[in-house]
Amino acid sequence: MLKDIATPNRTKEILKKYGFTFKKSLGQNFLIDTNILHRIVDHAEITEETGAIEIGPGIGALTEQLAKRAKKVLAFEIDQRLLPILADTLSPYSNAKVIHQDVLKADLKGTLEQEFENIEDLMVVANLPYYVTTPILMKLLEEQIPVRGIVVMLQKEVAERIAAKPGTKEYGSLSIAIQYYTEAETVMIVPKTVFNPQPNVDSAVIRLLRRPKPAVEVRDEAFFFQVVRASFGQRRKTILNNLVNNLPNGKQKKADIEQALSTAEIDPKRRGETLSIQEFGKLSDQLLKSFR
Ligand code: SAM
Repeated sequence: MLKDIATPNRTKEILKKYGFTFKKSLGQNFLIDTNILHRIVDHAEITEETGAIEIGPGIGALTEQLAKRAKKVLAFEIDQRLLPILADTLSPYSNAKVIHQDVLKADLKGTLEQEFENIEDLMVVANLPYYVTTPILMKLLEEQIPVRGIVVMLQKEVAERIAAKPGTKEYGSLSIAIQYYTEAETVMIVPKTVFNPQPNVDSAVIRLLRRPKPAVEVRDEAFFFQVVRASFGQRRKTILNNLVNNLPNGKQKKADIEQALSTAEIDPKRRGETLSIQEFGKLSDQLLKSFR
């Protein structure tokens, strides 16, 4: 029987057989520790009823572990050189399918509808290419694909920002963007030694469970996110100063901003990083009256 792909020796053999060289620009750091993969799949609660969506299968280390437990695995891989390798390494798993595509350009909803026709429980599980972590997560969330959640490996520092609570220095517009759609939790810190090649940064696994509806109900979503970004413009400034400086025509509308803060019961001297998502929601609904 073949050893698992995610072992140092088997990975080395596969890379040698195909003369594969890593492309740093594509965030290629492959996992060579089966234990870590088992734990990732455990955190995703994959069963034989689950359809798993993977981004960046590499040589198939995680794909293999998903295929052993899920009903079906669909993996998006941008690097053409990996396709013949994956066809070989995944040949024992008839429930794994690779699509050669940049996930950022994919029609995810359409593809998932087609590929997972009779599967209700969908989960994204991936060891993400770190150069595009945030755009990938935002695409998955903004397009509201019908998944139960997302369990992904990413840079530890980004995981900390995503799962941060108000009042901490990591809390910012990324925390709010992700927590608006999901309940976010860091579930594992991962050492560099489980990758080949080893990345320069520390890694972590986060679990994002999709909320049945967003964390706060707002009248205008795009404006809500504009207010959030404006509030974190300069972190040392007060919420009032940030809104005045960063909202369109904020200076002329200072009195309206003060009024909105007062109606939303938010002290104008507070900093953006102390506001909860619910407070941002209340504030953006008040500001909307004078900005839209
Ligand atoms: N899943 C494998 C593992 O854990 O060993 C590989 C993970 S590696 C960190 C990231 C993978 O994502 C690489 O295979 C890379 O080629 C692929 N990738 C990079 N950018 C991508 C994109 N925009 N769309 C799809 N795949 C991408």
